[in-house]
Amino acid sequence: MKGLVYKSTGNWYDVHTDSHEVYKCSIKGKFRSLGIKSTNPVAVGDYVFFEITDEKEQRGVITKIEPRNNYIIRKSVNLSKQSHILASNIDYCFLFVTPSNPSTSSLFIDRVLLSTESFGIDTIILFNKIDSYDKDDTDYIEKLYKTYTSIGYQCLKISVKQKTNIEKVKKFMENNVSVFTGHSGVGKSSMMNALDSNLNLKTSEISKQNEQGQHTTTFAEMFDFNNGAKVIDSPGIKGFGLIDIEKNEIGGYFVEIAKLSTHCKFNNCLHLNEPNCAVKSALEANDISESRYVNYLSILNDDENNFR
Ligand code: GDP
Ligand code: ZN
Repeated sequence: MKGLVYKSTGNWYDVHTDSHEVYKCSIKGKFRSLGIKSTNPVAVGDYVFFEITDEKEQRGVITKIEPRNNYIIRKSVNLSKQSHILASNIDYCFLFVTPSNPSTSSLFIDRVLLSTESFGIDTIILFNKIDSYDKDDTDYIEKLYKTYTSIGYQCLKISVKQKTNIEKVKKFMENNVSVFTGHSGVGKSSMMNALDSNLNLKTSEISKQNEQGQHTTTFAEMFDFNNGAKVIDSPGIKGFGLIDIEKNEIGGYFVEIAKLSTHCKFNNCLHLNEPNCAVKSALEANDISESRYVNYLSILNDDENNFR
């Protein structure tokens, strides 16, 4: 049987078949997770093959995972060598940004984008709560909007509260798997509730789950919405960090820096003080955003590369 993993609790995985049957599955013996060292060999979002062990009780055993298109991985809090796969096969990451209550810095945005670029996940920036902006908020968001649209990111100015541009968000989500990220209080749960769902019970479960402390990374879950949208909710995704990104790789995930770097004199240019650096030239000519460059430097100099 083939199915999609909707929920993982550590020992059991809820696997949904195409015909919407749900099987509780375990893993057979030592299971190799496609060569990745992780505490969970199977992740929410995985397509798996399983054998039915008990048809009446709807139990099964997962025997194989389909190769993943992408996945979000996070270092385990306790076991330094191990990591945890938070979700897989993600079509869109929606990054929620608000100028105040809470405020979102451009550094936070750039760290998330660096992560999602490294994971190979398309990211859409949602500037939420536009109904409540004062002059400073508007100016701040306009600047961010220009910066990120100019380098190719899809950006939408929205209000979940007043339903402004929510249909556009839904259009992106239709028949796709999404994850939401952003600081606490930016409107992620409100968005979940604004999406059409016949699963009211489920959304209340989400909020309960969120309250149970941020370190419960094990309880990821996928939710279905009426337009075929799927959202993977995992407490860990709200602050997913970087894994194994070398200093000389960071520039490759800043899309505009990556493009320019082919014109730098040295192919290992870090765009600091090297001669004939195309990135520095572009910066001086105002062709790239100063905040992006400053954040690039800040991440380059941050040994931890973590942002919780
Ligand atoms: P989460 O922590 O990201 O899940 O944020 P919540 O969805 O819990 O929202 C935090 C607060 O922001 C709640 O009081 C929401 O009612 C409020 N909120 C969400 N979206 C909007 C919006 O578009 N405009 C305004 N003014 N408030 C909003
Ligand atoms: Zn350079």
